[in-house]
Amino acid sequence: MPHQTPDPSLPAELQIAYLGGVLDHLPQGISVFDAELKLLYWNAHFLEVLDLPADAVHAGVPFEDLIMFPASRGEYGPGDPVEHVQARKALALRFEAHRFERTRPNGRTHLVSGEPLLIDGQLAGFITTYTDITDRKRMEEALQISHARLRSIIDNIPGGVTLFDDNLQLLACNDMLRRLLDFPDALFANGLPSLETLFRFNAERGEYGPGDPEIIVRDLLARARQRIPHIFERVRPDGTVLLIQGQALQDGSFVTVYTDITELRRAEERLNHLAHHDPLTGLANRLTLDEHMRMRVAEGTRDQRRFAVLFLDLDRFKTINDSLGHQMGDALLVMVGRRLHAAVRQTDLVARLGGDEFVVVLSAVEQEASIAHVAAKILTALSAPYVVNGEVLHAPPSIGISVFPDDAQDAVSLLRNADTAMYHAKAQGRANYQFYSEELNRSAMARLDLERKLRNAAAGGEFELWYQPQYRACDGQAIGVEALLRWRHPQDGLIPPDRFIPICEDNGMILDIGRWVMEKACAQLASWRNAGLAPLRMAINVSARQLRDTRIIDLLRAQIERHGIGPGELEFEVTESSVMERPDEAAFILGRIKALGVSLAIDDFGTGHSSLAYLKRFPLDRLKIDRSFVSDIEHDCNDAAIVSAAISLAHGLGLEVVAEGVESAVQWAQLKALGCDELQGYHFSRPLPAEQLEPLLRAALNLPAAGATPAAPQDPACP
Ligand SMILES: [Mg+2]
Repeated sequence: MPHQTPDPSLPAELQIAYLGGVLDHLPQGISVFDAELKLLYWNAHFLEVLDLPADAVHAGVPFEDLIMFPASRGEYGPGDPVEHVQARKALALRFEAHRFERTRPNGRTHLVSGEPLLIDGQLAGFITTYTDITDRKRMEEALQISHARLRSIIDNIPGGVTLFDDNLQLLACNDMLRRLLDFPDALFANGLPSLETLFRFNAERGEYGPGDPEIIVRDLLARARQRIPHIFERVRPDGTVLLIQGQALQDGSFVTVYTDITELRRAEERLNHLAHHDPLTGLANRLTLDEHMRMRVAEGTRDQRRFAVLFLDLDRFKTINDSLGHQMGDALLVMVGRRLHAAVRQTDLVARLGGDEFVVVLSAVEQEASIAHVAAKILTALSAPYVVNGEVLHAPPSIGISVFPDDAQDAVSLLRNADTAMYHAKAQGRANYQFYSEELNRSAMARLDLERKLRNAAAGGEFELWYQPQYRACDGQAIGVEALLRWRHPQDGLIPPDRFIPICEDNGMILDIGRWVMEKACAQLASWRNAGLAPLRMAINVSARQLRDTRIIDLLRAQIERHGIGPGELEFEVTESSVMERPDEAAFILGRIKALGVSLAIDDFGTGHSSLAYLKRFPLDRLKIDRSFVSDIEHDCNDAAIVSAAISLAHGLGLEVVAEGVESAVQWAQLKALGCDELQGYHFSRPLPAEQLEPLLRAALNLPAAGATPAAPQDPACP
C-alpha cells in the first residue's frame, strides 16, 4: 500500500514529533516493540486500554514489565501472574500475526490485532493495535436480541407471514405460512424462493382457478409491483378460507399476513342459514321470501318481466296433525318440502311460512300457461301418497296464483292476492289451482287446452299445407307460391295460425312441424314440376327457433337432392325479429342456407324495428312488405310514402320487393307504379289446398287447361 513518509528535509526531532502527534490522535491504542520485545513507540490510548501507570511506560521498557500490570490485576485469569507473563512472552517471541477480542474488567471490549514488523525483510519488531469495539458489540447484541424477538413474534403469530423485499424476493416467512398454503419443503430447498416462484407454483396447481398459469403469474406480478396495501379473502381449492392482508413498509419491503378464517366463515354461514331458513324443512323462511320478492319486483319493474307467486296450503294437514300427532305432521312437512323443491327450477324459490303454508316464487315466466304447467306439476307431485312411519297419508294442496305485474305491483299485495286465490281453490273443491285473476284463469285454461290438442294434431294428421300464389306485378304472370300451415281440428274446425304457431314456437313443437312443412312443400313443388307447372318458386316460412337448430341444413340438403330442386326454386321467409334476435348466428346460418341455392326473403317487413341498412348484413334476395302498409295504400298517404321509400331503398340494396295483402286492382296499379316487383293477396287468390290451386296456376302460367280454367286476373294497367 502506498504511504506517505514525513518530509525528509525536516529535522528528525520534528519528524518524530509529527508522528507522535498522529499516533496520539488515532482512536486506537498502538504499541510497537522491537525484536527484543522492548517498547519502541506507543500512544496515549495504549496506556488507557491496558490501564498502565504513566511513569511505568517509557522507551525501552520490556514487554514483560508492562503486561505484569494487567497480570497482577488478574486480567489473564486466576493463578500466578508471573506464569501468565512468561506464557505470554513466549507467545510474543514467536512474532506471529494474531487477532482476538478481549473484554477487560472495566467492561470495555477491544479488538487486539498484532503484526510482525519487517524492515528490509528483517524482523524489526511487533506492532499491536487495540480498537475499542465495546459500542459496536453492544449494538450487535441489541440487534441480535431484537431479531430474535421479531423471529419469535413471526413464529408465534397465529397466521402465516411473508416479508418480500422490493425485488419481490422472500426475506422471511414462518412455518404457519407453509402449512396454510401447503408449500412443500422442496420449494424452500435452495433458500427462500421469490414471489414469482411461489405464484407460479400456485398457478400451476390451480390455486388461482382455471386459466393459463403464465398469464396468471404475469398479471399477479404486475399487481404485486404496485405495492398497493390490500385485504381480501381467498378460498383455497380444499375449501380453506384465508384472509390475506398486505402492507408496504417504509424500507421498500412488503409484509403479508395470512389468517385462516375458515371456521369463522362456517359459523357465519350457519348463523346466516339459521336466520334465512325454516329449521324444520330447510326451505327459505319468511325473511328470505320477503327479500327475494322485493328483488323480483325491482327486476320485474326494470326489465318488464313477469313472475308468479304460488301460495300452497295442504288440504288435510290439520286432520293429520290432530289425529296422528305433531311428529307425524312434521315428518310430512319435510317430505312436502322435498317434493316442492324437486318440482321447480333452481332459480325458483320455495319457502315455508309456517304451519302447512308454503310459497313458491317462479321467476321469468312470460305465459300464464307455463305458470299453470308448474302449478299442475306441483299438484301432481304433492297429491301422490306419502308413507310416514308406515302410515299412508294423503295431503294434496290447494294452490293460489298471483302474477306480477298483472295482479299486483308490490310483494305484500302479491302474497295477499295469491292467498285469496288459494281460498278460491279450496272453495273450488280443493286439490286444484286458481289464478287470482279470472281472465288469467280463462286464458291459461284455453291455452293449456289448445296445447293438449296440438300434441295430438301431428299424429292425427290434422295439419294441412295450403298455398297462396305470387305474381309478377308488371304482367300478372304467376311466379311462385307461399306454403302456409293450416290446422283443422276434428271438432273445432280450422284454428287460425296466429293462435297455435306461437305456442308451437314456445314449446319447441315447431321443430317437428317445420320439418313436416318442408318435406311436404318440397314434394309438392316436385309434383307440380312433373305435371308441367313450372317454373314456380316455393316459399316456406321459417321461425327463429328453426334457424337456431343447425340440423335444418342437413334436412334442406336431403330434400334438395331427393326432389332435384334447382337454385331459386325454393325460398325461405324469415321475419325481421327472428334474425335480429341473434344477428351473428342468423347471418351464419342464412349464409349456409343461401349456399345451397335457396333464396331468402324478409317477411312482414315494416313491423319490426330494424332499418333496411342493418338488414344489409344478411344475404337476402327479397323483401315482403307487410299487409298493414298495403291495405290502406290508396287512402293513406303515409303508407304510400313508406311503401315507396321501402321499395327504392330495397332496390338500392339489390333486393326485389313483394307486396303482401293486395286486395284490389287499384292497389295493384299503385304498387306497380311505385316499382313493386311482385304481388300476393286476395285480389289474386286466397291460400288454397294444392288440388284447388292447380287449375288457377295452370291458367296464370298460360298452360293448357287440365279441367275447369278460372280466368287469370286482369292487369288493370295493360288491358
Ligand atoms: Mg310469410
